[in-house]
Amino acid sequence: MVIRAESGFFTVLLDDGRQVRCRLRGRLLKERTDAASLVTIGDRVTISTIDADEGSIEVVQPRRSELARRAAGPGRNRWLRQPLAANIDLVVVVASVVEPAFNAARLDRFLVVAEDAGIPVAICLNKCDLASAEEIETALAPYHRTGYAQLCTSAVSGQGIDELRALLHGRIAAFVGASGTGKSSLLNALIPGSRLRTAAVGQAGRHGRHTTTVSQLLALDTATWVADTPGLRELSPWELQRDRLPWLFPEFRPPLELPCRFPACSHRHEPGCRVLSAVVDGCIPESRHNSYVKLWDEAR
Ligand code: GDP
Ligand code: ZN
Repeated sequence: MVIRAESGFFTVLLDDGRQVRCRLRGRLLKERTDAASLVTIGDRVTISTIDADEGSIEVVQPRRSELARRAAGPGRNRWLRQPLAANIDLVVVVASVVEPAFNAARLDRFLVVAEDAGIPVAICLNKCDLASAEEIETALAPYHRTGYAQLCTSAVSGQGIDELRALLHGRIAAFVGASGTGKSSLLNALIPGSRLRTAAVGQAGRHGRHTTTVSQLLALDTATWVADTPGLRELSPWELQRDRLPWLFPEFRPPLELPCRFPACSHRHEPGCRVLSAVVDGCIPESRHNSYVKLWDEAR
């Protein structure tokens, strides 16, 4: 398993526990132009060894799942799909209840990306030490019907960290979420001594962080890993397809078991729409439907 990727070098963890530093075999590189799009953390690979701690990646196994981002490609207006992590079993979407204020639209974007990738998700509401029980419940209430696991945590007080650890156990997880919500702090709480950089209060802006391009899987124990790569944290939806979008909201699925009045219903404003009547009935929270409409505008 590839546990670290940095400028063309990959650290591969072998089944016997040894770690081997590898490059990509030239033959593989010819298929695509850059190593980063071919191999990523979480990939299962076959290597040949040059000596005890050096080798080359010969074969990349097909991925169970993939989280990718849009990256600038060669030429003008060209976009490449850049895989950020492979074979992730769980996406933990981290949202803060306050500081920065809870933002449902943002949380929903991350949830949709994970659903689109076919990866189970959990919601981690962080900074619960700063909020009242009422604020926490108001933030989480719209998600009760999604079936997503929900955790309330604090990287400061330690609240919920044991539950988070139990949820992660035995899986390869990725933490995603808006900047400043506490992803690095949670990782530091889970893996004392990992010393991930955290932003000082008020400095978690859009620019000026993430100077490194190291991607790695951090071990919680021998069976549990958390992906840490800057691009992954700020995952955004792209390549979203409008016809798939309603199915990426779990609570839309029951009303969609029967057809809306119009076969081509977009579930935004049409009469006789079963999704809209579920909103009126209170089965789909308005904030979730608002997020759907926003994402529909971006999708194609
Ligand atoms: P990231 O951008 O998601 O990785 O967020 P960071 O881990 O860098 O945290 C952003 C800021 O929020 C830092 O100043 C942290 O100290 C602070 N922070 C993170 N988690 C908590 C928490 O649970 N409670 C409180 N009060 N502050 C937190
Ligand atoms: Zn409809």
